[in-house]
Amino acid sequence: MTSLNYKLFQRSLELIPGGVNSPVRAFKSVGGTPIFFKRGEGAYVWDVDNKSYIDYVGSWGPLILGHAHPAVIKNVQNKIKDGLTFGAPTEAEFEMAELLCKLVPSIEQVRLVSSGTEATMSAIRLARGYTGRNRIIKFEGCYHGHEDALLVKAGSGALTLGHPSSAGVSEEVSNGTVVLNYNDIEEAEKIFSKVGREIAAVIVEPIAGNMNLVAPRPKFLSALRELCTKYGSVLIFDEVMTGFRVGLDCAQGLYNIKPDLTTLGKVIGGGMPMAAFGGQREIMQFLAPVGPVYQAGTLSGNPIAVCAGLATLQMIQTPGFYKKLIDSTQKLIDGLSNIANKYKVPFSAQAIGGMFGLYFHRKIPSSYTEVTECDTESFNRFFHAMLEGGIYFAPSSFEAGFVSAAHSDIEISKTLQIAEKIFSTWEK
Ligand SMILES: *Cc1c(COP(=O)(O)O)cnc(C)c1O
Repeated sequence: MTSLNYKLFQRSLELIPGGVNSPVRAFKSVGGTPIFFKRGEGAYVWDVDNKSYIDYVGSWGPLILGHAHPAVIKNVQNKIKDGLTFGAPTEAEFEMAELLCKLVPSIEQVRLVSSGTEATMSAIRLARGYTGRNRIIKFEGCYHGHEDALLVKAGSGALTLGHPSSAGVSEEVSNGTVVLNYNDIEEAEKIFSKVGREIAAVIVEPIAGNMNLVAPRPKFLSALRELCTKYGSVLIFDEVMTGFRVGLDCAQGLYNIKPDLTTLGKVIGGGMPMAAFGGQREIMQFLAPVGPVYQAGTLSGNPIAVCAGLATLQMIQTPGFYKKLIDSTQKLIDGLSNIANKYKVPFSAQAIGGMFGLYFHRKIPSSYTEVTECDTESFNRFFHAMLEGGIYFAPSSFEAGFVSAAHSDIEISKTLQIAEKIFSTWEK
């Protein structure tokens, strides 16, 4: 194999650990050579060898409008002429804050940062500063970025690599983190009844999207809300993935539960490095410069990133935007499930808003343990066959997939055609 792609990867391996700048890009769990992309437009991406793919990764979530959406590109191009950064307040940041406070039910004040990791790291510090407590509760398989205290039994790339936590995280730090089973209300009640008054925060993905897709059981999130209220702990919804992905009022709107703090990222940056955390005014007032909890960033609220985000948030407010997105995603999921069923392939799938999960198992999983019961071999085979057919799914069975507004019936039908070819010759 002497494709440009292959050569680039071999050379990258010499200079970049694993040849990639974020582990899950490396195709480690599915095997093979990661694809180097050079261009995207709408639902499509092109690799360096000019092969095109229908993209269901969308840069891992941000590209809800599809690649290179004209409104986003134009806003960025207009803004970029005035300079890239000032390290001082700009009007665009105020507009972004105003929009987030208006759209996200629980956010009264918000601060902008440059990545989801920074958002969750800052939210945890703020919760500790506000409560004067140390312990954090997280759930197995949930990924909250690579902040030390949260890299315990984390999802996404951390799962793919097969070490549930990371080397280099000191025990003093990880000891403060209690890891519980997602969707297990009884376990959460038990730990609160023991050490509830020591718990600074519960951080949870309201829909888990970093261990494939796992939906919250009906009472799970409301039970966490009640426990946090009762014991004075801060409830943090990590909506870096679900924020504006599952609806205009995010997962908290979908399930009608107000967390104390919310972290956002991905969609709100429109493809640029931008994220945020926000919530109750009383808690947010603990942040520097008004409060004692330090948090800062040279490029926080970067005007170009904010402009890409503003253009994106503008578009998703168009009437009917989510209806179309949800319909497309559901069509994909129903189509794949029907085809698998027709050829008796053990497979199930579900969609929530514009995100979806594919499972090589007859039953849709509801915890990390159940996710690990899915057949990874089958997934890897499916992944490579689809890739060959020009369909790009996330290169790991521990990731959720994403549909964008640019995916029309044409792309969904093409995807289902390829899937039918694969499943029709799928013997066990
Ligand atoms: C992607 C993600 C993060 C981390 O965001 P980065 O921008 O990659 O640092 C945190 N939490 C959740 C739920 C995510 O999906």
